Amino acid sequence: MHDETIAIHGGYQADGTRSVAVPIYQTVANDFIDADHANAIMDLEIPGFHYNRINNPTNDVLEKRLAALEDGTAALVVASGMAAVSYAILTVAVAGSNFVVAPQLYGATYTYFAHVLSTLGIEARFAVDDQADSIAALIDNRTCCVFLETIGNPAGNVVDLEAVAGVAHRAGVPLIVDNTVATPLMLKPIHHGADVVVHSLTKFVGGHGTTLGGAIIDSGNFPWSENAKRFPTFNEPEPAFHNAVFARDFPERAFVVRARSIQLRNTGATLSPFNVFLLLQGLETLAVRLERHEANARAVAAYLAADARVQWVNFAGFPDNPYHHLVQRYLNGRVPSIITFGVVGGYDAGLAFFDSLQLFKRLLNLGDAKSLVIHPASTTHRQLSSSELAAAGIRPETIRLSIGLEHVDDLIDDIDQALSKATA
Ligand code: PLP
Repeated sequence: MHDETIAIHGGYQADGTRSVAVPIYQTVANDFIDADHANAIMDLEIPGFHYNRINNPTNDVLEKRLAALEDGTAALVVASGMAAVSYAILTVAVAGSNFVVAPQLYGATYTYFAHVLSTLGIEARFAVDDQADSIAALIDNRTCCVFLETIGNPAGNVVDLEAVAGVAHRAGVPLIVDNTVATPLMLKPIHHGADVVVHSLTKFVGGHGTTLGGAIIDSGNFPWSENAKRFPTFNEPEPAFHNAVFARDFPERAFVVRARSIQLRNTGATLSPFNVFLLLQGLETLAVRLERHEANARAVAAYLAADARVQWVNFAGFPDNPYHHLVQRYLNGRVPSIITFGVVGGYDAGLAFFDSLQLFKRLLNLGDAKSLVIHPASTTHRQLSSSELAAAGIRPETIRLSIGLEHVDDLIDDIDQALSKATA
């Protein structure tokens, strides 16, 4: 089936009630038929639900739908995008591991990698840029993965996934990517060599600024058992989970089974089934929303680029954008509705513009039906030093717009009046 169809029907078959909407199974647990049934479910010998910190029938539909959209073998949904990012790293890293990252990252991801994981003895190695050679230079025999955002937030860089997957795989390590900004409807990283995909579903997938959520999708492709020394937690009996050997016992979905049974089971960032219901509503309309987001963003970006009150504009959709060839190659020429730019007059003028907008919402989110604005250096990326900001692709004056679904003339009118006030 095509993506538009999977986004509406994937992973769901109505039960005897013939409910057309996915039911919200608001339950803490599911009762066992008898002791044998309980044992078989607990040992993952048969599929089934037991305790809803770990799995739930409503969540299962979203997991199947996302796995199908990303062309993976299995998915896990969790309470937020940050839960997905942290569970992904903790599923593969042990104390003493390092992992290599491209520096154009969402601020909380950057800070978590740079300052939190280090307290657990897990070192994030930040490459100077997102180029495969720069990443390759930092990989050694303690490296457990390469991590990057397929399209950096807010830098807007588009990574050459096949080149990076090549260097990761030649070194024997998996490539984990955050595909939040692109969504699986614009880019399927697994088709280009990614082994694991994470998402903040809070953004375009939910799409209405109502619901936090995250996901991890397993490609099923990474050969964990080929390097047992580098990946001990996939190849040695796991005492925290029935002595399972994940790579041997679950070869098609070892990553997601381990993320669920070790990370989610023990630390419990569970996504509520009600939130899953809202995310499923969002996913149903994602394809049509993305078309309108993109059309509006192209018009706003063109307006900004032609306006003398604007100093610079960074938009992946411009033909002279340095990532244009990668947009063509990986995104089929399509682009998400994220624009960054600077107002003539720099930092102060940028903040005056921010304060003067009337229709745009000043808030920490993106991918909403509503148009949003943020000044990353003082908000999403506030914890970063000036050199870290530069590496993440953020200037002090950078304003980020997430273009929504309103009538584009109303958005341009609002930008026009705010630019006039900011540059008066
Ligand atoms: N990844 C990216 C690219 C993001 O932009 C964000 C949030 O803005 C996250 C992850 C974290 O997601 P959440 O806010 O759902 O925890």
